Amino acid sequence: MDCIFCKIVEGTIPSTKVFEDERVVGFLDIRPAAPVHVVIIPKKHISDMNGVEEEDLPLIADIHRAARQIAVERGVAESGYRLVNNCGPDSGQEVFHLHYHLLGGHKLGLPIA
Ligand code: 5GP
Ligand code: ZN
Repeated sequence: MDCIFCKIVEGTIPSTKVFEDERVVGFLDIRPAAPVHVVIIPKKHISDMNGVEEEDLPLIADIHRAARQIAVERGVAESGYRLVNNCGPDSGQEVFHLHYHLLGGHKLGLPIA
């Protein structure tokens, strides 16, 4: 399968990983939109939120647990951060491997619309 994030999981394309456990990887976004911008993904290939099956729901909890740890480690747990999932054309999703953006490190604009 030609999926760039699966290749990041496998290590066949380089990335700066800042988190890894059995089921989840977090790495620095190649085009950061904020001082802290980490992409958090399940190791399992799931195309997007619409592809999350009942059996995958524990992975969503794993991703949230990872996000909280990464926020602490990147120093934004107290100052604040945003966790964003893009799903489908109107969201601007570019990579079709489920992922969440952890953004922080400065005052984030609202709304995202
Ligand atoms: P999306 O728009 O699909 O929600 O976000 C995909 C994100 O992945 C973008 O912010 C983009 O900069 C990032 N990205 C795309 N390709 C790569 C890559 O090869 N390496 C890294 N580290 N980030 C990538
Ligand atoms: Zn994938």
